[in-house]
Amino acid sequence: MTARIIDGKAVARKLREEYASRVQTLKGEHGIDPGIAVILVGDNAASQVYVRNKIRACQETGIRSELFHMPADTPESQLLARIDALNADPHVHGILVQLPLPQHIDVSQVLERIAVDKDVDGFHLYNVGGLVTGNTVFPPCTPYGVQKLLEHENVKIEGQNVVVVGASNIVGKPMALMLMQQDATVCICHKKTRDLGQFTLLADILVVAAGVPGLIVPQMVKTGAVVIDVGINRLPDGRLVGDVDFEGVRKKASLISPVPGGVGPMTITMLLHNTLISAERIAGIIGD
Ligand code: NAD
Repeated sequence: MTARIIDGKAVARKLREEYASRVQTLKGEHGIDPGIAVILVGDNAASQVYVRNKIRACQETGIRSELFHMPADTPESQLLARIDALNADPHVHGILVQLPLPQHIDVSQVLERIAVDKDVDGFHLYNVGGLVTGNTVFPPCTPYGVQKLLEHENVKIEGQNVVVVGASNIVGKPMALMLMQQDATVCICHKKTRDLGQFTLLADILVVAAGVPGLIVPQMVKTGAVVIDVGINRLPDGRLVGDVDFEGVRKKASLISPVPGGVGPMTITMLLHNTLISAERIAGIIGD
């Protein structure tokens, strides 16, 4: 068996075109100009690249973005005051605080200060808790991107065995909850899991988000499984790879997402989606 390769870039492009047209409808028919505020504290090089990419994607979709770049020694109170102002600003439909934050700032205080109905990253405790009951205001972008990819590829979730490798708050745990909500039988593995392969072998759908290159080899994958690789790892030779031995596993899986070009392009796309949805709600449009 040789797996079909999921073209995350193409799916993301298609969705972004749809969102761009919905943005035009909001502007033209409802007089609403969707906007996101992005807060970056400090000069973390990777964060600067992520923020630049997010802002560029907003521009391409017609979503207004405003960057608040604050110095690394910004007091927490000042950051919270900025969030309060953005919460109160009716022209701001989404607020994103780029993580990580400098050590002296309490991340949970910051995330919980963002108004739930503007929390387009889906990291507020209310949105995290909402995953348990299946009614988040905004789902977190990376697992939501995986869900959209699975939907796009018509992968059946109900009744399937899903194994999620990685149990972080931003990827693994919400991913597991989202798929459980769709009636999959879900198992979550992490770095303390003994004999990872005995679990992954049971997976009809295997989602890997560990940050360990080459973690998943063909012997750990069931023939015909759907394999989604969320990992992003930079090798010493400069290559970007996921957590899955792509060349080996693609010979055994039925469907596989590559790195790069799989889940990656979907994450920012879901940020655009959440911001658009936030503005559509103001217009009284109940979107997807
Ligand atoms: P994290 O470091 O917060 O969590 C990693 C998880 O993997 C932990 O639960 C840990 O227990 C588990 N783990 C680590 N080593 C393991 C092992 N040997 N066996 C089993 N489990 C193991 O990371 P994260 O933020 O969840 O990100 C995970 C990966 O996904 C990273 O490579 C990250 O770069 C990538 N990522 C990609 C996107 C995207 O848009 N594609 C977004 C977020 C994260």
